[in-house]
Amino acid sequence: MGQGNDPWENHMKNDLIITIDGPSGAGKSTVARMLARALGYTYIDTGAMYRGVALAYVKAGKPRDMARFIGEVSLEFEFVNGTKVTLERKDITPEIRTPEISLLASKLSQNKEVREYLWGIQREMGKRGGIVLEGRDTGSVVFPDAHIKFFLDAKPEERAKRRHMELSAKGPAPDFAVVLAEMVERDRSDSERDLAPLIVPEGAVRIDTTGIDARGVVDLMVRRVVSGDDKPMEIIKTAHAGFCFGVKRAINMVLREREKTGEPIYTIGPIIHNPQMVRMLQEKGISPVDDVTRIKDGIVVFRTHGIKKEEKAYIREKNLRVIDATCPFVKRVRNHALGLEKEGYTVVIVGDEKHPEVKSVLSYLRNGGIVLQKSAPVRAKKIGVVSQTTLDTDTFTGVARGLMEGAQEIRIYNTICESTQVRQKEAAALSSTVDVMLIVGGKNSSNTTKLYTIVKKIQPGSYHIETEEDLRPEWFTGAKRVGITGGASTPDLIIDLVERRVNSFRGSSNGRDC
Ligand code: C5P
Repeated sequence: MGQGNDPWENHMKNDLIITIDGPSGAGKSTVARMLARALGYTYIDTGAMYRGVALAYVKAGKPRDMARFIGEVSLEFEFVNGTKVTLERKDITPEIRTPEISLLASKLSQNKEVREYLWGIQREMGKRGGIVLEGRDTGSVVFPDAHIKFFLDAKPEERAKRRHMELSAKGPAPDFAVVLAEMVERDRSDSERDLAPLIVPEGAVRIDTTGIDARGVVDLMVRRVVSGDDKPMEIIKTAHAGFCFGVKRAINMVLREREKTGEPIYTIGPIIHNPQMVRMLQEKGISPVDDVTRIKDGIVVFRTHGIKKEEKAYIREKNLRVIDATCPFVKRVRNHALGLEKEGYTVVIVGDEKHPEVKSVLSYLRNGGIVLQKSAPVRAKKIGVVSQTTLDTDTFTGVARGLMEGAQEIRIYNTICESTQVRQKEAAALSSTVDVMLIVGGKNSSNTTKLYTIVKKIQPGSYHIETEEDLRPEWFTGAKRVGITGGASTPDLIIDLVERRVNSFRGSSNGRDC
């Protein structure tokens, strides 16, 4: 480290050394563990190392000759999902958290031999980078050149409350007053010692964790890590994102019906391809069913993708009440396909044969149709072509061009819906100007998946996510501009939540204190 003034200059960002110091009970362990997990880094609990030495010292009969004890002690530390301490091959981690060991660790930590022994191990780990260290001197002494330093603090009462709760969860705990007194004593001893006292390291970002939960603190930290500097990341949304006309119409239709009646409402398959929205509707008693013959009463909704001819026949036969929420643009595909068939054309649907929209259109064709997802020869004199509404323009024109070469007569209807085309153009344009592109929507949504396929070719840093829970902070490391768009079946609320979470990763320019 330290080859230049800019600590970022000589390092890949996945090799960072991040330190978190602060008094006990400030929440260091919890957030250090969470931060390391979020970044895919190794978490090192240096306090556990001091505690390990203290317990080994007790087990060795508290020898006077500290240098000899340290020279001979057979301690090992493993840093997988926390810090595991073994003494003579025996796992002693569960025994190092008692109040007695806390005080002894604090006392022994003033010893030069102990500190030098542990510093050596900690610095060795740092050579690889990609670590989050937590302790009392990790940013001031162990790694004064660390790429990012944090100092966590909280009011003593709050810290003692946390420690008291932690101890009570494990079994009978000392009184709160005892825990507070012990904490104040440890603070004093850690801050006043001559060797590596607890201080706010130079250049550290101070975070007061009083009243903030661990997740909130980690979000603050991640902001610092991913932005790398104080210039906030820019977030840009496409003009068109979220529900298209057909989806809005369908959702409004069922919700209006829900207000009017207490009868069960069914949709054949999910009304739109968005699991979160479908779940929300299910809570209101609007349930998707796979097999129409399971519906014996209530109201049946034809979903946006349309339904199959035989399903419609069953519903008629049972005299069930119907709400036809089929998207008008999907009906247009069906009408063109039927018209072409009537005029003697062999109908080719460019799209996915497994998609409900394509299945629905096919079911209405007397002679059946041919479904193509990529260019392939079709033996017919008269070919009539339509496309699935959510297809991408390149695939459609590629297949249509191929068919043109073999046909004597061809009629082509570009039935990709307007909103799909607009969204694809906007997403493609935006993805070429950003560092990270997010496509929000159901993994089962055709139009969302198409958007993702398009932008991924332009911007390798593109991600298809369903909700803000899928966001990974490390995607934004070093990113200056982030683009967001959503599929036609993605609720605006989900896109807003994604934007809000990305926003929480942005760097702030409010000085060093958070
Ligand atoms: O963090 P924890 O409470 O487990 O640490 C136990 C003791 O080890 C602290 O009170 C402190 O005296 C000592 N310690 C230290 N330097 C570190 C980590 C812990 O002196 N980097």
